[in-house]
Amino acid sequence: MSSQSPRRNLAKELAAAAAAYQSAAVIPHCPSCAAPCCKLDKLVLELDWAQTKGLWRLEESRKEFDKRLAAGRGPIEIRPANGLYYAHSRPCPAFDASCGCTVYTTPLKPVGCSDFPVYEDEGRITADLRCEAVDLEALKATISNTLGPDARIRQSADKEFPFLVTLTVKR
Ligand code: SF4
Ligand code: SF4
Repeated sequence: MSSQSPRRNLAKELAAAAAAYQSAAVIPHCPSCAAPCCKLDKLVLELDWAQTKGLWRLEESRKEFDKRLAAGRGPIEIRPANGLYYAHSRPCPAFDASCGCTVYTTPLKPVGCSDFPVYEDEGRITADLRCEAVDLEALKATISNTLGPDARIRQSADKEFPFLVTLTVKR
């Protein structure tokens, strides 16, 4: 018998279902995607300093880089906030149009890149419909297959960002 709480077990199973769906349905579609998320025209990349330094191949210190950004001489796609950096509106430097992400299996890859477009959070699954590979019915089928036939799945969309859909599961 598992010593973990039912809630934690459910979260683990949902995380496994999200990962299975990403592997089976999303990642295989990426090479032929018509609107790759790595172009960052829709998504914002959240990065720590090590990732920013590595991805943009910066040679200066963080202090010098921050000064450069503040003076408007840094990469215009990067904005600093709350000790982190946010990149938007230009393709990620690790994106290669022919082979995809060149850092996918390295620590340089931001967490958000693994989570997009389907991830578990606090016992629920969030699906981001800005990814053209996401099919909600297929995702629900994957969840049902992982959790069993007694899983009841309820779907709701974010009021402000309706492309973010939450799937809540009860047994
Ligand atoms: S939007 Fe979806 S299918 Fe397209 S590259 Fe990103 S994860 Fe892959
Ligand atoms: S780190 Fe890789 S997966 Fe993430 S945005 Fe850049 S190219 Fe895409």
